[in-house]
Amino acid sequence: MHKEDGVAIIGAGPVGLIVAHELLRRNVPIRLVEKRPGPSHATRAFTLHARSMEMFEHIGVAHRLEEARQRVSARRAACQPDLDV
Ligand SMILES: Cc1cc2nc3c(=O)[nH]c(=O)nc-3n(C[C@H](O)[C@H](O)[C@H](O)COP(=O)(O)OP(=O)(O)OC[C@H]3O[C@@H](n4cnc5c(N)ncnc54)[C@H](O)[C@@H]3O)c2cc1C
Repeated sequence: MHKEDGVAIIGAGPVGLIVAHELLRRNVPIRLVEKRPGPSHATRAFTLHARSMEMFEHIGVAHRLEEARQRVSARRAACQPDLDV
């Protein structure tokens, strides 16, 4: 890898994607490497904690999550024992 390739970020999970977002906002070139062929279809964001939302607010993406969110009733959340994770 050459210096001009930018910052190597290994893993496109939440941490890698946020680091990528923040570096690109500052015009720092990146190279994002992910071993999975595509997104996982298992939810790992059933709940977003207040502190996470504060951080998303801070970096200016909270409104995008608000747009994409799905409200889930407490009853439905408690009744999914076969959820594939
Ligand atoms: C079943 C489940 C449910 C969860 N539910 C919630 C929830 O409701 N709310 C919440 O806030 N958190 C939840 N979490 C926790 C949340 O998923 C983690 O805190 C978060 O994913 C951590 O982000 P990360 O980027 O550090 O790691 P990861 O999400 O694990 O991402 C790391 C990425 O790096 C990739 N990678 C690893 N090694 C390499 C390599 N050598 N080369 C290239 N790519 C590589 C992996 O494929 C992966 O995509 C849940 C976790 C699990 C397992």
